[in-house]
Amino acid sequence: MSDKDDGNLFEELQKKLQGVLPPGAKVMGVHPSFPTGESDESEEDVVEERPEDEETLRRIRDFNLKPKDIRDHLNRFVIKQYDAKKVLSVAICDHYNHIRQCLENPRLTEQDYAKQNILLLGPTGVGKTYLMRNIARYIGVPFVKADATKFSETGYVGSDVEDLVRDLVKAANGNVELAQYGIVYIDEIDKIASSGSMSGGKDVSGRGVQINLLKLMEDTEVNLFSPNDIMGQMQAMMGGGRGKKPNRRSINTRHILFIVSGAFDQLAEKIKKRVDQASIGFAASVSSEEDLFSYLQQAATRDFIDYGFEPEFIGRIPVRVGCESLKPDDLAAILTSSEGSLLKQYRRDFKGYGIDFEITPEAITEIAGQAYEEKTGARGLMTVLERIFRNYKFELPSTAIKSFEVTTDMIAAPEDALTKLIVDHKHLMTEVWRGDLEAFADAFESEYGFRLTFTDGAADVLIEIAAEQDRTLRTICDDQFKDFPHALNIIARNTGRSAFTITDETARNPDKDISEWVVASFKEAEQLGNGGDEGSDSNDSVDEDRPGVT
Ligand code: ADP
Repeated sequence: MSDKDDGNLFEELQKKLQGVLPPGAKVMGVHPSFPTGESDESEEDVVEERPEDEETLRRIRDFNLKPKDIRDHLNRFVIKQYDAKKVLSVAICDHYNHIRQCLENPRLTEQDYAKQNILLLGPTGVGKTYLMRNIARYIGVPFVKADATKFSETGYVGSDVEDLVRDLVKAANGNVELAQYGIVYIDEIDKIASSGSMSGGKDVSGRGVQINLLKLMEDTEVNLFSPNDIMGQMQAMMGGGRGKKPNRRSINTRHILFIVSGAFDQLAEKIKKRVDQASIGFAASVSSEEDLFSYLQQAATRDFIDYGFEPEFIGRIPVRVGCESLKPDDLAAILTSSEGSLLKQYRRDFKGYGIDFEITPEAITEIAGQAYEEKTGARGLMTVLERIFRNYKFELPSTAIKSFEVTTDMIAAPEDALTKLIVDHKHLMTEVWRGDLEAFADAFESEYGFRLTFTDGAADVLIEIAAEQDRTLRTICDDQFKDFPHALNIIARNTGRSAFTITDETARNPDKDISEWVVASFKEAEQLGNGGDEGSDSNDSVDEDRPGVT
């Protein structure tokens, strides 16, 4: 069915639904930029294609990147993984060159073409997803990632794996044309092997998922609406009513690139055994975990079939490449030279509060070493940095500290270093707290019309309470002076005063002092002959000798 036919049917459906749905209601699941063929420009539902999508589509139609362009781009973000970068760059260029050729000459689409679906092997956290995400971003195509294990329960149903393609449409903001050239990434593919090392229960469903994925990887149409979607039902109803086949609005998977990945550690073990047996004696056996993954480079199609993959499935994934484990030096390089370095992210986060930090080369080495011990690849960096910086991120924004240093000592005991940092900058802290008190006084004045002035002694008392209770000065002041607005109103009516000084005594016992002030104000009013709280309007009579009065 041509796009035009689809578009007309869609318009018809929209018109039909206008009678069914309340005015202004939209058809569920239909993105505003849903292509509608010869659409009426004045239709409210039809949104112009976004200029950036148009630009991406143009770039795909004119795809002219060379493998080395892609490799160079990846080098900016991804450390190591030289083999993977090379293999991926070639596969990606072949894939998008093929798409360009098909668009130039649609007859090519009919010819056999082995799509460059890719299998990425290797341990967790070494950049497999990161490579693909960066490639997708570079080309501008939508990218979705899912774990294969998510689909293992549904077995033969298959609608779930199709959700991946629908997600791609969502990732493309509803632009189906763009989604057709997107990248789907499925991790933990080794977990859906159906026999061999896999245990009982998941076998059947694993095979089912493989078959469903296989269909997607080939040239298939995926309905844009899952079967229980109202839109799908409406379409079926409409088509049926006219004695036609149900109207299908779908996306073709022909040009979607599928990347599957997994650690395949058990496969690595198997190959290792085989290689070890073939070699003379045990001297050749390598035991360290990182070297285990190097055996995956030797994995042949037969190994994957023995592992539990359907021959057709693994046959549809012709490009296979291993990613290596990352050593401490690589982790250090990620921190210092990757454009996507987490350290850069932390810098930006602190910068948000006007805070900078310096990090010594020894500290980088130490962080990389600790991250390596986590055995989760570059993800270990996140764990270590989070541990080091967590309390700094919480405490420093409320201080006047604008810079600090990350050293090996600081990493060894981040809490102690933080306490010392705060103590060393106590004088600056006092300034901040004075600022907080000023801010409270300003807010109090604008809300109630009374000016509070805090003596140094009062400030010290309030700061002490705030520190004791580990609360901010603002919340302490809100508590201590919560009865003040009402009491100060009485005093103002009795005496006309609107400015008050908070001393250390008042800060310590606000309730006691405020009641004394109120009593004194009645006495004063009597002396002045004001007759109780019939206060004068004059705000400028001040008596420096009376408590709380400035
Ligand atoms: P996996 O190999 O499990 O797919 P990811 O690619 O998701 O791992 O890596 C997690 C994160 O670690 C990435 O988002 C990236 O920030 C960082 N990272 C992992 N490997 C590398 C690498 N080789 N170079 C730079 N950063 C990396």
